[in-house]
Amino acid sequence: MSDITFTMVKPTAVANGHAGAILAKITEGGFRISAMKMLRLSIAEAEAFYAVHKDRPFFGELTQFMSSGPIVAAVLEKENAVEDYRKLIGATNPAEAAEGTIRKQFATSIGENAVHGSDSNDNAEIEAGFFFGFKDMF
Ligand code: ATP
Ligand code: MG
Repeated sequence: MSDITFTMVKPTAVANGHAGAILAKITEGGFRISAMKMLRLSIAEAEAFYAVHKDRPFFGELTQFMSSGPIVAAVLEKENAVEDYRKLIGATNPAEAAEGTIRKQFATSIGENAVHGSDSNDNAEIEAGFFFGFKDMF
């Protein structure tokens, strides 16, 4: 099996109707969707997911935002998935994201930056496990 990464289409991108276009870019980029669902995080769930950022000044803003509306969560499979997906989404701040990246095209600000992508193989496994059980991944 290839490597996996974990992604979320964040609330503003879903609300603006971009989930389909973002998923199309993901599959056109060579990723296979092995699990996917639409859901809304509670504040407590957003705080648990982003616990590594709990001491950052934007933690409150981030967890409020991520629980503000439905998201699309998915597990993506591809060789070198983590690194290749970070390339496809672009820099955290859309103002710095390269042309053709998902954040360049769909993000509105550093906070509301359209998508999440795991930053390591270990975190990809942890994050996928936060949303999906073994039987949910195909
Ligand atoms: P993600 O983890 O969502 O893929 P990232 O790895 O590019 O993004 P992180 O440093 O992990 O960036 O930050 C997590 C999220 O916190 C960012 O995606 C963004 O939504 C938010 N964030 C990061 N920096 C700021 C900031 N300076 N102001 C507001 N929100 C921020
Ligand atoms: Mg991150």
